[in-house]
Amino acid sequence: MKVFVTGGAGYIGSVCVEELLNAGHDVTVFDNLTEGHRSAVDKRAVFVLARASDVETITAAVRHAKADAVVHFAANAQVGESMTNPGKYFRNNVCNGLNLLDAAVAAGVKKFVFSSTCATYGPPDRVPMTEDLPQRPINPYGESKLMFEKMLHWYRQIHGLEFVAFRYFNAAGASEKFGEHHRVETHLIPNILQVPLGRADHVEIFGTDYPTPDGTCIRDYIHIIDLAQAHILALPAGRQGFYNLGNGDGYSVRQVIHVCEKTVGRPIPTVEKPRRAGDPPKLVASAEKAAHELGWKPRYPKLEQIVAHAWRWHQAHPDGYPD
Ligand code: UDP
Repeated sequence: MKVFVTGGAGYIGSVCVEELLNAGHDVTVFDNLTEGHRSAVDKRAVFVLARASDVETITAAVRHAKADAVVHFAANAQVGESMTNPGKYFRNNVCNGLNLLDAAVAAGVKKFVFSSTCATYGPPDRVPMTEDLPQRPINPYGESKLMFEKMLHWYRQIHGLEFVAFRYFNAAGASEKFGEHHRVETHLIPNILQVPLGRADHVEIFGTDYPTPDGTCIRDYIHIIDLAQAHILALPAGRQGFYNLGNGDGYSVRQVIHVCEKTVGRPIPTVEKPRRAGDPPKLVASAEKAAHELGWKPRYPKLEQIVAHAWRWHQAHPDGYPD
């Protein structure tokens, strides 16, 4: 298929583009490079440097690509930042996304695959979390993604645009070529690995008084290649709906630090800090729906494998991408 990928120069997008190409699809990457990196774009893909806020350009780009499917990664995705600058999140994740949605309809695209998030649920009533849980986000990031999910529902009903929305839990790890390099890094695993890389002397733990066994937040970490594979499974006609993507295993912040220590073979000093605004205590997925309906099966479900691949990539790219 011809697949149009927004945010294909970003962390999750770059690995998904690589996997789409490996699976034989033709890929056009559309990215403004504010979060992404030019060298994270697989050389086999066509690259369009432009902004989704520019309606004419994005409309022409989707049409020119003759896209059968759109895979939409481009977004802002930091919970903490969304609590201080909500407008950035609603403008980019909702308004700019809407430009893409209209462009997809205008170009006769058959399938829209959307990067949603477990942050659309807010603190869950129970874990593991299934897709039917109520969605009550507690930060503007999660709210912006939920708004886009609702738009997808109406665009399918009114325009017949088939969609799959994946609610990611915590993406982590790397492929051999592509990994995690945010210009401002806020995510746990890359922040921990800064210490053994010699770029930080400790990692901060945000909150040690949560109602969890060791007092730190619990998350479900999922290998970036496994996330990418799910997008390929979403492409065939008839596949449609909302799916959680996680491993069903919860790890606390302290447990993740411990796995990193074992992987790198040395202690990683920590400093305890107050809670970060907008963080739910525990998010763990049930991804049984994706397993049953899409045939999705994670290849790297163990946190040890995920951290090992992240560490391999960071060692090979201690400065991240050059651009
Ligand atoms: N966290 C932390 N120190 C860091 C980065 C993150 O303690 O340097 C915590 C954060 O508060 C959350 C968990 O690690 O409880 C996962 O955070 P991350 O930003 O990686 O992903 P999120 O779950 O927010 O999408």
